[in-house]
Amino acid sequence: MTYPTIKILPGQDRRMRTGSPWLFSNELRMDADAKAVAPGSLVRVMAPSGKILGVAQFNPHSLIAARMLTRNKDAEIGRSFVALRLARALLLRGRLFETPHYRLIHAEADGLPGLVVDRFGDTLVVQINTAGMQALEGLIVEALDEVVGPRTIIARNDAPSRQLEGLESEVRALKGELSGPLELVENGLTFVADPAGGQKTGWFYDQRANRLFAAQLARGQAVLDVYSYCGGFALTAAAHGAEAVTAVDSAATALELAAASAGRQGCAVEASFVRAEAFAFLDAAAQERRRYGVVIADPPAFVKSRKDLGAGLKGYRKLARMSAALVTEPGFLCLGCCSHHVTMEQFATETWAGIREAGRGGRLIRTAAAGPDHPVHPALPETAYLKFLTYAVD
Ligand code: SAH
Repeated sequence: MTYPTIKILPGQDRRMRTGSPWLFSNELRMDADAKAVAPGSLVRVMAPSGKILGVAQFNPHSLIAARMLTRNKDAEIGRSFVALRLARALLLRGRLFETPHYRLIHAEADGLPGLVVDRFGDTLVVQINTAGMQALEGLIVEALDEVVGPRTIIARNDAPSRQLEGLESEVRALKGELSGPLELVENGLTFVADPAGGQKTGWFYDQRANRLFAAQLARGQAVLDVYSYCGGFALTAAAHGAEAVTAVDSAATALELAAASAGRQGCAVEASFVRAEAFAFLDAAAQERRRYGVVIADPPAFVKSRKDLGAGLKGYRKLARMSAALVTEPGFLCLGCCSHHVTMEQFATETWAGIREAGRGGRLIRTAAAGPDHPVHPALPETAYLKFLTYAVD
């Protein structure tokens, strides 16, 4: 099989030599032939020296124009290629977790750029985020069938980033039927999530280890989980001996699932599920002088694009200030940030400033990221999006 050849411009192959899978459009010779290649096509990538470096997925309309699939210049990208990548990812997750509930494929880091697959037992939820992966959708379904053999495969192809790749938004079953909420096990607890109707793929597996850590601080304490979504932090804390837990979110459907999980777990402690805007809730709680031994705030991305950076950093600072004000003396404050554009250093600076503005002090006791089912491609450290800080506050 011959794929069209795309050439790297002279002097622009530096990142390729570090093992990066990305080529930006300004690093490639975007002549008429390159521009005429259909978005999502497979191409061979040629170094300035004339050497073929491997096979990539190409989209001439995207800033990240080429994403390398393999450094094997003769590779044929078919079902067995995809199946081998899936099998490698599955083997890793099998070593990490006892039950089949995890992120199975985390895009570039698992060798399948633009593809995310979350696993809920025999249901797989697929997110295709690039034109290149969209072109392979059929192969992906066949390979998932071969390697995992799920009953249901749901496409949650409704991420806003698809627009950048010229792709439609859609949610549909690629195998089996769309269905309602299902169960998953995390840290030994059963939760209820809704892959077809919930946010993103229905569950945020990236916080698994952080939920367990926060829960271990919660024994005998009142716990506040702001931006709780389906109650992952709050209910893990409840199971670890928290005295009472309060989960706050603006989405009623997420709170209903959290309440369902509490019932399913036989949660024995007082658990409140409060529908409210987070800052309004924090403000009202401060007025009422409520205090919590552990406060967790894990908001949606405040910085969705680079132009929002300034406003977003202020948002994280304000969140830290308002959350810190509710922490007992002493107590713990756990803060999450899933904005790609915010570095760990920026997040730590802003949250510490917020804690000080609340008139509080403390120390950082844990600096964490997403769990190991969200691996990071070593040449793309900027894709390590999740920051999770725990402060002991006094
Ligand atoms: N901590 C969660 C994930 C949070 S995702 C977990 O462990 O799974 C972000 C959540 O914030 C979503 O559930 C969303 O509904 C909620 N949200 C977004 N804006 C909000 C706001 N202004 N006030 C309260 N909740 C909000």
